[in-house]
Amino acid sequence: MFQSQMLIDGQDLPLEEGSGRRAVIYNPANQEAVAEVAVGRRQDARLALKAAERAFPLWSAESSQKRGEILHEAAARVRDSSERIARLLTLEQGKPLKFARTEVLSSADVLDYYAEEGKRNYGEWIEGPRSRSIVLHQPIGVAALITPWNYPVDLLAWKVAPCLAAGCTFVAKPPSLAPLAATEFVRTVCSAGLPAGAANVVHGPGGEVGAELVESPISRKIAFTGETATGRWIMAAAAAHIKRISLELGGQSPFIVCADADIKAAAASAAQRAFSNMGQICISVNRIYVADDVAEAFTDELVARAEWFKIGNGLDPDVDLGPMFSRAQRDKTREHVADSMEKGAELLFGGREPEGEAYEKGYFFLPTVLCRADHKMKVMREETFGPVAPLMKFKSLEEAISLANDSPYGLAAYIFTSDLKTALKAAEGLEAGGIGVNVNNVVDLQAPFGGWKESGLGRELGRWGLEAYMETKHIRLGMG
Ligand code: NAD
Repeated sequence: MFQSQMLIDGQDLPLEEGSGRRAVIYNPANQEAVAEVAVGRRQDARLALKAAERAFPLWSAESSQKRGEILHEAAARVRDSSERIARLLTLEQGKPLKFARTEVLSSADVLDYYAEEGKRNYGEWIEGPRSRSIVLHQPIGVAALITPWNYPVDLLAWKVAPCLAAGCTFVAKPPSLAPLAATEFVRTVCSAGLPAGAANVVHGPGGEVGAELVESPISRKIAFTGETATGRWIMAAAAAHIKRISLELGGQSPFIVCADADIKAAAASAAQRAFSNMGQICISVNRIYVADDVAEAFTDELVARAEWFKIGNGLDPDVDLGPMFSRAQRDKTREHVADSMEKGAELLFGGREPEGEAYEKGYFFLPTVLCRADHKMKVMREETFGPVAPLMKFKSLEEAISLANDSPYGLAAYIFTSDLKTALKAAEGLEAGGIGVNVNNVVDLQAPFGGWKESGLGRELGRWGLEAYMETKHIRLGMG
């Protein structure tokens, strides 16, 4: 069986060392054992933090050109290892292999991007009457990078690449039940020429190993992606040392379909973003508001799309949807669907597991379409994190915007319309960090990504992603 060790101070920590605790990782498609993984304790997190602290003066003293060379080399090595890492990702997380490959390859692109962006860490020169001011941006120090299971490689790459490009060192804590691909990703990056201790990985329970990374005075920056409840705890804990924090948290994204939209394109986009990765995406389409006049046509098209997905074990080459990540995720999805139906929604497709021997041992669930949804239902208020698309009709754009904003979350929002004025009016009025107009994705490597309201704090990607690992320093020169 594959063994996944922790990586501390440039060395793999053999499973029998460290805390000595181990866990078995199971494939969510069939519950077969995939790997044995080391489970750390607080003391392992402390060792890793100390290693990152020792490596910081070395790594931060490298020129941004040198750091860029190493990051490009890391990107090339990740591409070379992409098939192996992608396979581990499918085995531990369930997603189809073709999407696991895309995830790993896009992580290599993130490394290449920040290899160059790191060189654009420009300062400023300000003239005063009797002084001159220089403004510098310097690396914060040791960062703790804590990530979830839905995109364990990509979301870690969004942190690792700008962190290293800025000159910071780090300890990563991948998700406890899907640590394999993320650990291999960091191990590959590490092999590209980083000083020992610049990149570390510890495994273990969030409340123990993750908490140590957050609470220790050694980490000066916490970059976290995960649930809003965990983010709230991290924000409070980080207050003890006034740590810099980036929080990418939960979402409940609205998708508005106007009467003048291209209905076929809108339905295809909504289906893809509501069901892919089994709806386990923070910017998944969670609530669809459709104009009265086109509701019937849009609904028929969406149901046809939902029927179209091929579901199965992620290792089968022609599969579009794998299993859900865990029994808990599937139970929550089922419970949210049942809650909607009790409160008056109508089930148009799905709402249950697919039938057949191939699905008996995995956490499979059919893409689900509900109509007559309203804001009393959990699917419209809470993060289901499952493949459910609930529909609700609206009469005016103002009503649609107000329904869309009626949520504590504000990560992404989408609108489909053929009128530019409508698009701009909605984009200005929607309370979210990313607005998709006639597209179903708000992620772009060069643009800021992050949430409003309880969806987070700070931004990743683009130059904003790099700034998140920098402190600003003002040097004032007397000229009197
Ligand atoms: P989670 O909050 O349970 O766990 C995320 C990570 O935090 C894991 O590594 C976990 O071990 C660790 N952790 C848990 N408790 C901790 C603590 N007290 N201190 C330090 N670390 C701790 O989230 P999850 O269930 O793994 O992921 C799903 C969630 O992630 C969803 O809410 C989803 O919306 C969110 N998410 C957000 C984005 C975004 O960019 N906004 C992207 C992907 C996922």
